[in-house]
Amino acid sequence: MKLGASYFGSRHQEHVRRDMEAMAEAGCNSVVHTLSEEDMTYYPETMAEVVRVSKEAGLEVFLDPWGVGRAFGGEAFSEFVSKNPHCRQAITINGNGVGLGKACLNSQVFKDSMRDWIELAAGTGADGVFWDEPHLYYGELVPLFGKPQVVWACTCQTCQRLFLEEYRHEMPSDFNEEVKKFRQDTILRFIGSLCKAASGKGLRNALCIFPTLDPRYGVYEWEEAVKLEGLDVFGTDPYWLCFNKKMEDFVRDVSRTMVTLCAEHGREPQIWIQGFRVPAGREEEVGRAIKIAYGEGVRNIAVWSFQGSDCMSYLRSERPEVVWQKVSEAYRELKVKSHERQP
Ligand SMILES: [Zn+2]
Repeated sequence: MKLGASYFGSRHQEHVRRDMEAMAEAGCNSVVHTLSEEDMTYYPETMAEVVRVSKEAGLEVFLDPWGVGRAFGGEAFSEFVSKNPHCRQAITINGNGVGLGKACLNSQVFKDSMRDWIELAAGTGADGVFWDEPHLYYGELVPLFGKPQVVWACTCQTCQRLFLEEYRHEMPSDFNEEVKKFRQDTILRFIGSLCKAASGKGLRNALCIFPTLDPRYGVYEWEEAVKLEGLDVFGTDPYWLCFNKKMEDFVRDVSRTMVTLCAEHGREPQIWIQGFRVPAGREEEVGRAIKIAYGEGVRNIAVWSFQGSDCMSYLRSERPEVVWQKVSEAYRELKVKSHERQP
């Protein structure tokens, strides 16, 4: 059984060591460390130290390309998009292409830079890599005059050319079935190539996609994602507070689907639990969500993030220490339960 949390609070080795020990004390045996563009540039050896002290605390370590190219989830800026404006995702507004602050997943330059990221990740001694929420932009424009308009990426030159090659006609301007499929294929081909490269370096691959089958979020046929070659762990993040859903139903339904799908394809299901922006008085939902995922058969559970996300005001829960206490109580309870089940 894997119980973990993500971490991005400090790059100071002694602080990280103390936090990793606190994490192990709370019942964790796994951690996801963020490895942003800033880390790649200014902290490469530091990240190897972070991985080392985490392992010394008894934790399995996965690394996350946090906000890299702003095409993955994460609260980190991207230098890639400013250095490579021709590799950005684009939307089309009234027939005009508009570049966004996100890298295009079909850009060869971006794919090459992800190879560098994998190289660095492998060099730290981490156990695996965590591909978190790879996405293409989607939005709805409501002009003061005229009709509301759906805008979606990616309509850059590269994507238009690939679409034409594949579908034998120009990319349509509306968000139709072909466009939905092309966007999903773009995300999955991108992740597939990263999985292959990472497995070749001895890293395990975990993928987390949005907890919805809504095509606006990119991947809407999960059975296409679970099959990706080289994928070990397949998961999603039913953050009920973000999606404004009832925790019990959301976590249970998504966990159940994930467990069934992963069993069919020999993958390990992973469920992420919301441990950020938790309002005061609702902390016990975090502990209950962990137990619901476990009850559905998930044996790889992680919380975003360590100590109720106390280190970042943008994500911090109202009472982060209470959130972490609930996580710790639930994790310790599950550890006892899983020991009892073993012969
Ligand atoms: Zn593109």
